[in-house]
Amino acid sequence: MAASEPVSGHPVRVFEAVVAEVRDLSPHFRRVTLTGPSLLDFGVPGPTLDLRIKLLLPNPGHPLRLPGVNGVLEAGWYQDWLKQDQPGRGFIRSYTVRALRRPPSGPEVDVDFVLHRGPGSRPGPGSGWALEAAPGCQAWFVGPDITAVTAATPLPEAGINWKPGRSDRVLLAGDETAVPAISSILEALPPQISGHAFLEVPEAADVLPLATKSGVQVSWLHRGTGDVQRGARLLAAVQQALASDAGTWHPYAWIGAEAATVRSLRRCLTESGVDPRASELRGYWSLGKAGSGVNGIPVPQR
Ligand SMILES: Cc1cc2nc3c(=O)[nH]c(=O)nc-3n(C[C@H](O)[C@H](O)[C@H](O)COP(=O)(O)OP(=O)(O)OC[C@H]3O[C@@H](n4cnc5c(N)ncnc54)[C@H](O)[C@@H]3O)c2cc1C
Repeated sequence: MAASEPVSGHPVRVFEAVVAEVRDLSPHFRRVTLTGPSLLDFGVPGPTLDLRIKLLLPNPGHPLRLPGVNGVLEAGWYQDWLKQDQPGRGFIRSYTVRALRRPPSGPEVDVDFVLHRGPGSRPGPGSGWALEAAPGCQAWFVGPDITAVTAATPLPEAGINWKPGRSDRVLLAGDETAVPAISSILEALPPQISGHAFLEVPEAADVLPLATKSGVQVSWLHRGTGDVQRGARLLAAVQQALASDAGTWHPYAWIGAEAATVRSLRRCLTESGVDPRASELRGYWSLGKAGSGVNGIPVPQR
């Protein structure tokens, strides 16, 4: 697919890319860098913040039937994709653009994958793809077309949900799947923004370099090898931060994590007088269910 003008004006389209580099950042994070001429049209006018893309992943050994026509999508494309039969349909999984660069050699997109595998757990199509990815592999994803995204396009339609409005105090909390989004948001925040960011990762070695010009205090939390429950450290840290100002702290909250953790955090915000409707809370995945977000399909326990 060559860089071209969109036909439908729909803010997202299919991009075809090739893997340029694969790099292990830590025991649980693998960075895959994508490139290719079609990416000249990919992106949003400002910083990428929590920009999501939808990776289109084939069933191993079967060609992928891409949605839309020549990469051009229209409203309702996802419902149409759901009606397609396997094995050609493949799988869709949401990921975050960790970085978008435009050097003279051609555009580059970094995606940081959480490698979730462990005793009794086989990787899903997303994590499995990242485990197998090597330079030269093809990749397809749905993301914003910079030639179609205008100032009038609502940011969520382009894939960005960070919308703090005029808040200058923020609370960011996420598990490892939201580390790419929180890191990119923090990199873009100006110095006058303060608050807290809590990032829960599997182990101490998963703490990644993170730079911010903002006054947000960044805390990494790790579950470690003990029997610390997923999300427990995140919940305790958020509760403490909200309690420390005895109800006077009304931040814009952005939360991305496993669905049950997000439900607990939603209760915690409400009890502390923070209106969850004025914030962004999103289940990034569901334990025991295949698929991004909260509408996954139950997977049999192994
Ligand atoms: C907007 C958005 C942005 C996201 N950005 C990123 C990102 O940048 N990087 C990233 O890695 N993920 C990200 N995610 C989460 C990712 O989409 C899910 O983790 C997804 O389920 C992974 O797909 P999969 O095919 O590997 O596993 P699936 O087939 O979906 O699931 C298979 C099994 O693995 C379990 N599982 C899924 N994810 C995890 C996990 N992280 N840890 C442990 N078990 C898991 C499921 O519960 C299920 O039992 C994002 C999700 C959303 C909604």
